[in-house]
Amino acid sequence: MSRPPFKIGGKSIPIGTRQFVELDVAALFDLTKISIPLEIIHGKLDGPTVFISAAIHGDEINGIEIIKKLRNNSALKNIKGTLILAPIVNVFGYNAKSRYLPDRRDLNRSFPGRMNGSLAGRMAHLFMKEIVRHCQYGIDLHTGAINRQNYPQIRADMRDEETEELVKSFGAPVVVNSRLRDGSLREAARKEGVKILLYEGGEALRFDDSTIKTGVKGCLSVLEHIGMIKNRRRKKSAQKKVFIAEGSQWLRAPHSGSYQTTKKLGETISKGEEIAVITDPFGQIVGRVNATMDGLIVGMSSLPLVNQGDAMFHIAYFEDEGDLEEFEDVYDEEGMDEKN
Ligand SMILES: [Zn+2]
Repeated sequence: MSRPPFKIGGKSIPIGTRQFVELDVAALFDLTKISIPLEIIHGKLDGPTVFISAAIHGDEINGIEIIKKLRNNSALKNIKGTLILAPIVNVFGYNAKSRYLPDRRDLNRSFPGRMNGSLAGRMAHLFMKEIVRHCQYGIDLHTGAINRQNYPQIRADMRDEETEELVKSFGAPVVVNSRLRDGSLREAARKEGVKILLYEGGEALRFDDSTIKTGVKGCLSVLEHIGMIKNRRRKKSAQKKVFIAEGSQWLRAPHSGSYQTTKKLGETISKGEEIAVITDPFGQIVGRVNATMDGLIVGMSSLPLVNQGDAMFHIAYFEDEGDLEEFEDVYDEEGMDEKN
C-alpha cells in the first residue's frame, strides 16, 4: 500500500523524492518577493514527520551550516517518514545580518502567531500551519548572541521522558535547563504535542566548527533514534555521556573597564577561583571576577570590554559533585573548547 504525497506550500511531493519548496511571506518595500526556503525529503516508507529549523534569529548562522552538511549525508537517501529542512526561517533578519525582523520584533517571541497579526505573527503562524502541526518531532538550531559565544548545548523539557531520550541521543556535551520563553517556537511546538529540542552553540554571524560538527552528528543520531534512518555503524565509544546541569547563572562585571581571562568555553571552574581581572586604561586592576560556585563555562562574552553589570561568563552548575570531574575526563581530549 503506497502512502500519499506530502502537501506543503501548495506543492505535492511524491513519495521517494526530495524537492525544494518556497513558502511565500511578505514582500520587501520594492515588492521583491521573499520566501522561506525549504527542502522536503518524503520517504517511500511510513515513519515520523520531523522538522529541522535554523536562523529563526536571522544572525544565528551555525544552524544553516549544520543543515547544509546534514542534507548531503548518505543516511538521508532512504528515510522512513518525512523530513522538512528549514535552514533560514527568519529570511528578513538573515539578509540584514540581524536577529530581528524589519518591524524589530523577535520571531522567536511571536509564536504561535496569528494569520492577521504583525509580520512576525504571520510568519510564525505560517510556520506552525505548514510545518510544525504536521510533525511529531522538531530540532530548532540556534547560536549565541552577538559578541557572546556558547558551548554546544541543548535546551529541552527534561520532564518529558521521550524528550530526555532524544536529548541523550543527540549527544551534545551539556544540557542547560531553561524555562520556556513565552512566544518561542519551542513552547508553541510543545503545546501541539511535538517533541522538540533546541540546540545552540557558537556566536552570531560566525561559523564555529565544533558546534557545527556536534550539530550534524546530533541531528543524525536523533533521526536514527526515532527510526527515520538506519543505524549507522560507529564505535561504541562514540556515544558520550550528556551532562545535565541543575541550573545556570551569569557572572557579571563588578566594575567597568577592559578585562583579561585565561578561561575558555567548556572549562570547569571552582568556587572562589579568580577567572578574570578588569583593568583601567593604564593596566591597573580595578576589579576581579571570582567564581561564585563550582561549575562549567557554557557561555562567555567574546568582547573584552565591559560596563559594570555586563554579563561575562555563563556558568552551569550540577547537582552531583562528581559531574564536573567526570566532564573533564570525557570531553577534554576532544578539544570541544577550541574556539580561537
Ligand atoms: Zn536564537
